Amino acid sequence: RIVYCNGVFTPEEDARISIFDRGFLFGDAIYEVTAVLAGRLIDNDLHLDRLERSLAALSIPMPVSRAELEQIQAELMARNELAEGIIYLQVSRGEADRDFLYPEGLKPNFVAFTQAKKLADTPAQRNGISVDLTEDLRWARRDIKTAMLLGQVLAKRQARTDGYDDVWMVQDGLVTEGSSSTAFIITADNRVVTRPNSRSTLPGCTRHAVLRLCQTHGLRLDERAFSPAEAQAAVEAFVTSASSFVTPVVRIGDVAIGDGRPGPLTRRLQSYYIEAALGSVPA
Ligand code: PLP
Repeated sequence: RIVYCNGVFTPEEDARISIFDRGFLFGDAIYEVTAVLAGRLIDNDLHLDRLERSLAALSIPMPVSRAELEQIQAELMARNELAEGIIYLQVSRGEADRDFLYPEGLKPNFVAFTQAKKLADTPAQRNGISVDLTEDLRWARRDIKTAMLLGQVLAKRQARTDGYDDVWMVQDGLVTEGSSSTAFIITADNRVVTRPNSRSTLPGCTRHAVLRLCQTHGLRLDERAFSPAEAQAAVEAFVTSASSFVTPVVRIGDVAIGDGRPGPLTRRLQSYYIEAALGSVPA
């Protein structure tokens, strides 16, 4: 695989980052993930907008211009012949002798790579997933997409060990989000419910796209937080993310959702999303 590292395209085994990189030492870095389907980047403008917001929130300068970012993505896709998978971008504050206080004027380290992966029509999308409920132990600025992900790493490992596919995290009696996804439920009166954006969750790009699709297709929408009990009583549930699109949730904790199979509204949103993603691609 050819990766990108600070201005150079190189075989992955030749890419090098200093052990004094602050991303490595402090998690002082941000990242983005864009899906590639049929050789095309999905919702990439939303992802690059969020990358700029994450960098601004941490006062890390853009490592290259937005146009160069897009060129790097295109070049990585071409060199790796990526038709389906993801492109990962990471920008750290840069390297300096280890000190919590960072000096001004560091040069960011910018790396990017592709991962070939089947994203559409996966078993999870066809059959749905189970999620456990777990306390949200992360820091308070979850709206910034930082590489500091230990909360999610440990929660997801525990969920797997306990026989679940993933987790929904809970704070103050309300679901925040999935370990790497936005949580949605559908109520008995067919309303699509998801938490409003705030510092408590990452503002999902796929969430944004799905909310737009709800509007386009006349689905009723409530942006409000919901409790684990309300989620377990919902008629349908699903998660969204760049790499999982719209994925049904068929069990929350020890409770089956609906009849324990993906529901009809979730199915519709799945196909609206894929249609929109593939929209302008010739067959
Ligand atoms: N919430 C968290 C914590 C995430 O890590 C992610 C994606 O990785 C999402 C939500 C979904 O965001 P997006 O739809 O932009 O991929």
